Amino acid sequence: IVELIEVHKYFDALEVLKGISFSIHKGEVACIIGPSGSGKSTLIRCINALIPVTSGTIRLGGIEVSDPNVDKLALRRRVGMVFQQYNLFPHKTALQNIMMAPRQVLKEDAAEVEERARRLIDKVGLTGKEDVYPGELSGGQQQRVAIARSLAMRPDVMLFDEVTAALDPETVQEVLSTIRDLAHDGMTCILVTHEMGFAREVADHIYFTDAGLIVEHGPPETFFSAPEDERTRRFLSQVL
Ligand code: ATP
Ligand code: MG
Repeated sequence: IVELIEVHKYFDALEVLKGISFSIHKGEVACIIGPSGSGKSTLIRCINALIPVTSGTIRLGGIEVSDPNVDKLALRRRVGMVFQQYNLFPHKTALQNIMMAPRQVLKEDAAEVEERARRLIDKVGLTGKEDVYPGELSGGQQQRVAIARSLAMRPDVMLFDEVTAALDPETVQEVLSTIRDLAHDGMTCILVTHEMGFAREVADHIYFTDAGLIVEHGPPETFFSAPEDERTRRFLSQVL
């Protein structure tokens, strides 16, 4: 469902992605791990066409994402993205935040969208918080509203970029558990994470990036127990 072929990305003269290729199928979970500055966020942003690739091909479903004339609205309907900062609208309630994109972008029916939003609130474990404003929610709760907001567009693929990095340790687990449920429901997910235990548990594929390249990849069992590349070993020895 997502395919990258020889993706290169430059910021001026700086080559940040140096030929990234991988593909993931429907219902799979891919985790991208790697040191700071290795290009993980850049990769995620290219997949969502938030930034253009310099060369190479990205396809998502039937959409040619790397085409400069890609229909961004069509792409946004297919791909949900959650960042480290949740960027909820502070003057809107949890329910209103979740309803906003389907209502304003897709012009869907209010009653239908509201019903879906209420179901999503339940799904992310926030029953009862429908009418609460983001400022009254914990970081983990806000992040779960942000996840529900992405799901409200009924995406085929979800992208997560270090969504737990800014959270207190106690609330990290509740957000991971929401993502775990999604993965078990068959949502296709690409996630950048520093949570190695979580990656090991939910991922079908692990990709390790270093300096703009995927230097090693494999199923979690072999990746974590028998890494072959020196850079992977060094990284794992620091984080595990
Ligand atoms: P982290 O783990 O710290 O989030 P990362 O793997 O996500 O790191 P990126 O944010 O993708 O790394 O950044 C990769 C490189 O690209 C860095 O050297 C960064 O400074 C550079 N970079 C990222 N965005 C831009 C930009 N908009 N303009 C110029 N350089 C950028
Ligand atoms: Mg990043």
